[in-house]
Order: sequence, then structure tokens, then C-alpha cells
Amino acid sequence: MATESPETLLTPVLSAHWDDPEAWTLETYKKRHDGYAGLAKALAMPPDDVIAYVKDAGLRGRGGAGFPTGMKWQFIPQGDDKPHYLVVNADESEPGTCKDIPLMFANPHSLIEGIIIACHAIRSSHAFIYLRGEVVPVLRRLHLAVREAYEAGLLGRNALGEGKHLELTVHAGAGAYICGEETALLDSLEGRRGQPRLRPPFPAVAGLYACPTVVNNVESIASVPALMNKGKEWFRSMGSEKSPGFTLYSLSGHVAGPGQYEAPLGITLRQLLEMSGGMRPGHRLKFWTPGGSSTPILTDEHLDVPLDYEGVGAAGSMLGTKALQCFDETTCVVRAVTRWTEFYAHESCGKCTPCREGTYWLVQLLRDFEAGKATKADIDKIDDIQDNINGKSFCALGDGAASPIFSSLQYFRGEYEQHIEEGGCPFDPAKSVIWA
Ligand code: NAD
Ligand code: SF4
Repeated sequence: MATESPETLLTPVLSAHWDDPEAWTLETYKKRHDGYAGLAKALAMPPDDVIAYVKDAGLRGRGGAGFPTGMKWQFIPQGDDKPHYLVVNADESEPGTCKDIPLMFANPHSLIEGIIIACHAIRSSHAFIYLRGEVVPVLRRLHLAVREAYEAGLLGRNALGEGKHLELTVHAGAGAYICGEETALLDSLEGRRGQPRLRPPFPAVAGLYACPTVVNNVESIASVPALMNKGKEWFRSMGSEKSPGFTLYSLSGHVAGPGQYEAPLGITLRQLLEMSGGMRPGHRLKFWTPGGSSTPILTDEHLDVPLDYEGVGAAGSMLGTKALQCFDETTCVVRAVTRWTEFYAHESCGKCTPCREGTYWLVQLLRDFEAGKATKADIDKIDDIQDNINGKSFCALGDGAASPIFSSLQYFRGEYEQHIEEGGCPFDPAKSVIWA
């Protein structure tokens, strides 16, 4: 792969026609994307065969954890008398993560087609899209696309054939990051304050209204129609054995060409930077996140790490949401980590002590580094606090909050010490401004 020219690495599927006029309409989707052809193939197959097909294709969840999608569908009990639900997690809000929102804005029918296929597979007659409430233009566009799908008979009475109906509800959340955690999302959807539930039972056993529920990320579901239409071999021809397929990488920060790049899993940040114009002129990469701020940071030593679950995992981080935030040498690591930690402290739901108290105290201590009030003992203190959060919190938000702390200490401990020795931040914040 390293010998290929950067352009040949792009594999636009979901993003292929984002710039078309009226890209979001049913008409354009049918004409330009072969829209709803994957659905026709799926509806001709028994539900269990669709699940087996998606499983064989090796599609892994694109929301962060990379859990095999077909396997998740297979967990839904068959032959029970409870309703089954599909809930699409569209509450995208991880710092740096910005792929699902443009996807739904430009190509909502790929998501709707994927939803119909998934509902056929898991024998569900009601699906929900839980959308981040602030993105009102996306909400309007989803409503429009859902209406088009109802009018075309793709949703509603007999949508799945033989008297099988399918309803799709779009729900706007109220803008809490924790509602992206799947069980908090379900609580919120049921009308309660969004706080994580104990797992197990996983939603596949007891989810929405205590019924078997699949919770899938937007990109995961939107990838299904092309997979069904073009085939599992085509899907497996991209990416690696354990992480096959195409995906959306969100490139941001001090880069010349920020945006969404659709390419196979397993390409490298070096290749992505080559095809997008590199870092901003005159600057070099210092550190980056492979999948948003809750994944441990990496450095310029990791430019050739394959961006798949195994490659990034072996480098000591996680692929997460493939939100590649790149920072150059003008950036103070302590400052970046402080901003992320402020975010986690603000968004902590307060349910468990390590995260609620730990993120608060981390912010106080990190601010002391910036203000020149920290001592050497404070480095050990923040390390100790992150260690008490990581793996000891009720949900993944706590682990996410610890990630920037331990990884920045691993690679840039000297920069924390420099703040102490120089009585404050040695960097000029004006030079590292991204949106200058
Ligand atoms: P997880 O690994 O615990 O679970 C992944 C999925 O698999 C879940 O849907 C879970 O229900 C299912 N699952 C796992 N084991 C199961 C079992 N034995 N039986 C049935 N189902 C099972 O991960 P998570 O806590 O759900 O998510 C964490 C990820 O979310 C992180 O990797 C992070 O990158 C990502 N994240 C994404 C965003 C975003 O904006 N997209 C924000 C924050 C975090
Ligand atoms: Fe809430 Fe944080 Fe505990 Fe998760 S880890 S339950 S967000 S307090």
C-alpha cells in the first residue's frame, strides 16, 4: 500500500455524490447511488441470510468500538414475542468527530436504506434515529428524506412486504455528550434523563422499553446498502482481513486540507496527509488523535501506523471514530489536554465518583500548569487521578477523559515539567490558532 499514489487510495462510496445538486433527494440517490438496489437484494433474502451476509463481509461498527455489525444483529433473540427495535446513534459529539453529520446532511437516503435492510434482518417494525439536537439543518433534511421514503412506500404499511410494516421516527436529543453512550441514549429516548445503564444486560437483550434493541452508528448502517448491492467480496477487497471495507476519516486541525476523506481501513495518516496537502505550510506534525479526543494521542513516530483496529491498537491507542485531529509544533500539549479535560468535566453525567470528581480535579490541576502554579508533585497527582478514573468508571466517558492525560504524559512529560520550570506556558497561543 505504501507504494501506491495517494489519489488511488480514495474510495468514495458514501461521499461519492455529496456535491451533486440536491444530493439529498430520493431521486438523486436512486440515480447516482443505485439507491435502494441493495434493499431489493436484501428483501429477497431471508432475514438470517442478510445477517450472515453482513457478518461474512466483516463490517465493523463505525461509531468507535468496531464491534462486528452482523454479530450485533445476530444477538437479537429470534422467535420471542417482544418487539425488536433498531436505534441509530446519530448523537455525534466526540471532539473532532464530524463524519455522521455531513453524511446525513448530504446523503440521508443511504442511512434510511440501511435502516430498512437492518430492520428486515432483525425483524423490527420500528426504528429510531437519535440525532444531536443542535444540528437543526440535518434534522430538517432527515425529516424531508423520511417523508419521501414514506411517500414512496419504502416506509410504512407493508414496507417490508407480506404485511410487515416499518415505522421510522427521528428524535432530536437535547445536546448532552453522554447521550451518545448507547444506554444513556436509550434512557433519553424513553423520556428520562440520559444516564448510562449497567451492562449487561446489553441492549441486544434489554434495550429500548426493555426490548431487544440494536444500537448502531450512522456510518455503520449507511454502509450496508452498498455492501449488499456490490457484494461482500467487493467490500472485502478494501481494507484488511480483520478490518475490511471503506470508511470516512475526518481530518482536522493544523492541516492544509481539513475535511472528510473516504478510503479503505488500514491506510496511514502519512498517506491521508499526502492526499490532502499535508500540514499547514511551514509546519510539522507534533501529535494527533486517531479517533477523537477519547483515544490516546499519538505522535509523528506513528505516521505509518495502519488506521485499522489492529494497527492503532498495537500502537497503544484506539481507532475510535477515525477523527484525526492533527496538531503542529506550535501547540502546547498541556493546553490541548486541558481543553479536552474541561469538555469531559462539563459533560460528565455525575453518576459515578471517579469520573465526576476526577475530571473536576484534573481541570483544576491542569489549569495550574497553564497559570504557572503547578509543582512537580502535581504531575504525579494528575497521573494518579487519571489512573483512578481509567477502567474504574461506570462508562466509557471516564476512560475517554483519562486517555489524553496518560498518553500526553507518556510522550510529552517534559512539556509538563517545562511549565513548572518556566512558571507557565512556554508556547505562544496566537501561533497555534487553527481558524486564523
Ligand atoms: P463497547 O465495546 O462496550 O460496545 C460496543 C457495542 O457492542 C455496543 O453496542 C454493545 O452493546 C455491543 N456489545 C458488546 N459486547 C456485547 C455482548 N457481549 N453482547 C451484546 N452486545 C455487546 O463500546 P461502547 O462503550 O458502546 O462505545 C465506546 C466507543 O464509543 C469508544 O470506542 C469511543 O471511541 C466511541 N465514542 C464515539 C463517540 C461519537 O461521537 N461517535 C463519542 C464518544 C465515544
Ligand atoms: Fe457518568 Fe462519567 Fe460515570 Fe460515565 S463515567 S457514568 S459519564 S460519571
